[in-house]
Amino acid sequence: MVNIGPVANPFETAKKQVDIVADLLGLDDGMREVLKHPKRELTVNFPVRMDDNTYKVFTGYRVQYNMARGPCKGGIRYHPQVTLDEVRALAAWMTWKCAVVNIPYGGAKGGVICDPKHMSKAELEHLTRRFTTEISGIIGPEKDIPAPDVYTDGQTMSWIMDTFSMLHGYSVPGVVTGKPIALGGSEGRGEATGRGCAYCIREASKDAGVRVKNGTVAVQGYGNAGSVTAKLLNDEQGAKIVAASDSKGGIYKADGFNPHALEEYKTKTGSVVGFPGAKSISNEELLELKVDILVPAALENQLTGKNADKVNAKLIAEAANGPTLPEADSVFFQKKITVLPDILANAGGVTVSYFEWAQDIQGYFWPLEEVNERLERIMVKSYNDVHKAALEHKVHNRTAAYALAVQRVVDAIHVRGIYP
Ligand code: NAD
Repeated sequence: MVNIGPVANPFETAKKQVDIVADLLGLDDGMREVLKHPKRELTVNFPVRMDDNTYKVFTGYRVQYNMARGPCKGGIRYHPQVTLDEVRALAAWMTWKCAVVNIPYGGAKGGVICDPKHMSKAELEHLTRRFTTEISGIIGPEKDIPAPDVYTDGQTMSWIMDTFSMLHGYSVPGVVTGKPIALGGSEGRGEATGRGCAYCIREASKDAGVRVKNGTVAVQGYGNAGSVTAKLLNDEQGAKIVAASDSKGGIYKADGFNPHALEEYKTKTGSVVGFPGAKSISNEELLELKVDILVPAALENQLTGKNADKVNAKLIAEAANGPTLPEADSVFFQKKITVLPDILANAGGVTVSYFEWAQDIQGYFWPLEEVNERLERIMVKSYNDVHKAALEHKVHNRTAAYALAVQRVVDAIHVRGIYP
């Protein structure tokens, strides 16, 4: 496995981003401090029975960053390299993300340090049910609503929903989103992150003068977010997907490949590597390809001060959370590379999660067309809000998105007042 472990502390990055925006918005020191501290952090160490009947202790986190605008929302990640600072950063980004698309949520995130690739389904179920029990006091439809993230999925959410419901004695579908349809999931949730990202790319390409039809696309991380973005850019906007990667490496084919066939190949073999007719490349090489559109859709800290100069894309759409370090942002701004920042580009997932929660609470479910139409409306409006703010403040899209989002959170804090 290629090690792309942290080259910088993501929470330091998240705090730096707040400082940049606080200067722009002229926020006072007190408000800066509020915005740079998570409201609540829970660390749990808990034993899990493994298949060989031994017990192993796992560590998990749930961080609720800010709930000024509503209940907290954010995914749960299973990964060997989860750290508390990573979870804090992801929780901060969720706060800004919900605010940038103007849905009534605060931000949270969770993570468990584990290696799901080397655990059986039964072990993952035991881990999930015990972790849910450990954090059950602080989650719930009115408090904090988890969702899938890296290496968690609809099955994981079903176990969380069932465990939480067992603890309460009745079914509580609104406690998590990203559930299968059978349990109160929403139509369109599975592909919402990629779909939202594809809408954003479509809108931004018009302003940036970047071609999508017949344009070339490289996708780092061919998982949920990355593969759906690739398929929709190919199917609905006529783009050519020329490169893709996963944790085992990458592939490149100058005249493009069928992203559906690649997905089938990855499902069958476990990786994109070795896809017939494509040449092998590394994850680092993928980021430096001469393409129209680059979609980082794996982990954070991929575009840094070291490689930013070598990036040859015209538009970067961050399907992943936190793939770009602040020093790389400055380079892209100078090179006139348009960046669609994570809190905007991948907000389609949380937007349809919000739809799922709203449907669960109403007990009334919408057809797919309605979900996608509402998603498109929100993504197009959010992109245009960000683009307008970028032109107004003469800043890049990330700072503009933060300015919009942070101002919305600050407004909520101000009208609520500082308790008591
Ligand atoms: P996923 O598990 O479906 O896919 C992750 C992909 O990244 C996998 O193909 C994996 O092999 C690959 N990967 C892992 N390590 C890698 C490495 N070192 N180099 C290259 N590729 C690597 O996860 P996902 O849900 O698609 O999430 C991907 C990113 O998108 C994360 O940053 C996540 O926070 C973000 N995101 C996801 C959603 C969602 O709804 N799924 C929503 C918003 C943001």
